[in-house]
Amino acid sequence: MREVAKRQVPRVHDVHIEMDDKRLGAGRHRVKRAPGDTDRIGGARSSLSRRRGPTVVELKSDSALDAMREAGRVVARALTATQDSAAVGVSLLELDEAAHAVLRETGARSPFLHYHPAFAPTPFPAVICASVNDVIVHGIPDGYRLRDGDLVSIDCGAELAGWTGDAAISFIVGTPRPADLRLVATAQDALTAGIAAAVAGARIGDISSAVGRVGRAARYGIPSGFGGHGIGRHMHEDPHVPNDGRPGRGLRLRSGMALAIEPMFMGGGSDAFRTAGDGWALHTADGSRAAHVEHTVALTEAGPRILTLP
Ligand code: MG
Ligand code: MG
Repeated sequence: MREVAKRQVPRVHDVHIEMDDKRLGAGRHRVKRAPGDTDRIGGARSSLSRRRGPTVVELKSDSALDAMREAGRVVARALTATQDSAAVGVSLLELDEAAHAVLRETGARSPFLHYHPAFAPTPFPAVICASVNDVIVHGIPDGYRLRDGDLVSIDCGAELAGWTGDAAISFIVGTPRPADLRLVATAQDALTAGIAAAVAGARIGDISSAVGRVGRAARYGIPSGFGGHGIGRHMHEDPHVPNDGRPGRGLRLRSGMALAIEPMFMGGGSDAFRTAGDGWALHTADGSRAAHVEHTVALTEAGPRILTLP
């Protein structure tokens, strides 16, 4: 994965629409520059709030979405491989290797490996983020060996034939705590609700509201500034998709958009979080556990199409 500044600027004819985002004060813009958010691997950080200039969203053709579906299938396989490998005593590095083996086998490139955004002191060293217990997202796989009852979130991306998929799963190793089962199930419910709201004619805020409502109803915390994102030729493209917000606001959704929707909830109920000393991992501030799930979804005339299913 590369930083935005190093990305190739798409040709003008690659970019198809102008955007209207009055809530964020961005006004109505014509396409002027490359897509780009992105300084976060899973859960792109909001870009609109901290930059000026047009929001650019590429509307994908049916054939592009079919290509993204193939990349998404690789992501799903890699995630399944990590979950199948996960057991008490297995290290996070071994989970990374399980995903890496799938990427190698399929000829896919990892958009995570060597990604080095400006905020991070080091390039990301792995093909998955492995976020255990109080880590919300962006955990670096290391020699930590899984213990009974650990809540694990795995985030993985794959680029195949120039198109990208991005998804995440959360699961429990060994004997689950009831509270963790509820947290994971609620995150999945929020993902389902967010996907259902991803329809042409609606707005980004409808997705954000759908996700946030589920989390807030369960009294979970939501880390503000992190959420989903546009996706396509790059893993992180415009627009940012917050995990909480007001319905009917924000960017108008159109067929051909592809979005990664990724609820992340904190069990303790607080929205507070902190960054680890490695500059990557995001921890809950209160030490409570967190869950993160994600799918890459295309908006089509026939409704939302999940691209990261097996
Ligand atoms: Mg992801
Ligand atoms: Mg993502």
